[in-house]
Amino acid sequence: MPGTPETPWLLNPGPCNTSEAVRQALITPDICHREADYLEIQSEVRQLLLEVFGLDSAEWTVALITGSGTAALEMSISSSVSASGAMVVIENGVYGERIHAICRAHDIEAIPLTGNWREQPDLDALKGLLASHPEVEVVSAVHHETTTGLLNPVADIARCAREAGKRVVLDTISGLGGEALNIEDVDITVCTANKLLQGLPGVSFCFVRRSFAADIMGYPARSLYLNLANYLAKQEAGGTPFTPAVQITYAMRQALYELKEETVAGRVARMAATSAKLRAGFTRLGLKFYIDPATHSNTITTLYLPEGMTYETLHDRMRASGYVIYAGQGDLKKTVFRIANMGALTDDAVTGVISALEEAIS
Ligand SMILES: *Cc1c(COP(=O)(O)O)cnc(C)c1O
Repeated sequence: MPGTPETPWLLNPGPCNTSEAVRQALITPDICHREADYLEIQSEVRQLLLEVFGLDSAEWTVALITGSGTAALEMSISSSVSASGAMVVIENGVYGERIHAICRAHDIEAIPLTGNWREQPDLDALKGLLASHPEVEVVSAVHHETTTGLLNPVADIARCAREAGKRVVLDTISGLGGEALNIEDVDITVCTANKLLQGLPGVSFCFVRRSFAADIMGYPARSLYLNLANYLAKQEAGGTPFTPAVQITYAMRQALYELKEETVAGRVARMAATSAKLRAGFTRLGLKFYIDPATHSNTITTLYLPEGMTYETLHDRMRASGYVIYAGQGDLKKTVFRIANMGALTDDAVTGVISALEEAIS
């Protein structure tokens, strides 16, 4: 059981604490990825993903990608516009900025809708941008800005995009499984194995609407390796384009069995209950929230550092109590810290966070 300085509880936003069964699933015989031994697991994992998240395989497909969440994101962003297409990027945190950087790297025209990191985007401004930029084909957004714990209004963003006839690519790497989400509101949903899915790092995935996948097949390949059209074509035919992270996929299958058992709604409810419990504790200790609690996700709380205490001191004291906390990003590092509740935390671990913090700040 975690909870010691050597084997801590992880309060960082992924990788998260996983079950013993997920970690044990890594131990397999040596396997060739072109044999049924792997390919059957790949098919099962793709099928399980659609099933667990309630998607009809007649309308949805899924690509399983070796690489961290950013690999699936870069693949999805760089594959989803035509040769002349542009993209609106909603930017109100580090991860929205990362989407913009991906566009730059692939020479895709990005039209940013920048906003305050503590606020949801201005939907009228989004409508204005869409009306004045007919070359835009896609709106991209981050569901849960891990930078701060801010939730973006996916259904509203998707409605604006739909009304303007645009596709939506969503980074829900830290959202899926932790927040209520209607995946069918958007066209591509990008996620990873090692956050709310409680699997291990190294495999990521994206759900793609089949009607959009058909368009994507005709778009230019901007990358040899991160080419969504290639991944979909090969995996739909039961194969794999390159050597995948075989053992991590076994662990992901076990994590999906566990998610199926808990159900997605059950996991979202567990995350909501855990963050409510933690936030009540933070308030009792007199800690101050960085964003308006009305827009808080279920899994990250950004708190101001107590007066006169550096992040390093707080980190080291918490680590000594068996907890890993997380720094703020960029300039925020000097003023805030983050507590995530994403993994397989026990009730005692959650209660223990508050007593460890109380001791650390006293
Ligand atoms: C974690 C995360 C990513 C990707 O991170 P990787 O380190 O590549 O897995 C992207 N977007 C968001 C919102 C995230 O939380």
